[in-house]
Amino acid sequence: MRDELDELLFQRYPLIFGERNLGMRETAMCWGICCNDGWFDLIDALCERLQFWTDNNGAPQIVASQVKQKYGELCFYTREIPSPVQDGMILMAEEMSLRICEQCGNSGALYSRRGCLMTRCSEHAPEGCVLVSELPDPMNDD
Ligand SMILES: [Zn+2]
Repeated sequence: MRDELDELLFQRYPLIFGERNLGMRETAMCWGICCNDGWFDLIDALCERLQFWTDNNGAPQIVASQVKQKYGELCFYTREIPSPVQDGMILMAEEMSLRICEQCGNSGALYSRRGCLMTRCSEHAPEGCVLVSELPDPMNDD
């Protein structure tokens, strides 16, 4: 993620991103938020709700230990065990990331390019990639 957006999230949610300045032996957050700019709003909305639930409903303070893209999907790892509601928020955001272009934030879908998975809109899907939903199902032998 571009530095100024990364910085904005760290400023808005200092408790969630409290491990930002720890060393690489202690946390993966020293690498920042490891995905493209298109997921900024998704992560911003997730953190806003997570912090709200902590501040107003007595839920645990969420501390992110790693935030990254993996297999085309947002992964939001936490140090603490979230409340069931917070856990649902994280699961929902991770699921939504499979429908939002990681480059630009427009509506997207999961693509594969030589086995590498990514969520992109049609404009940002790289040449030679295929929609995962159109790949043959490996479990189906027909
Ligand atoms: Zn896009």
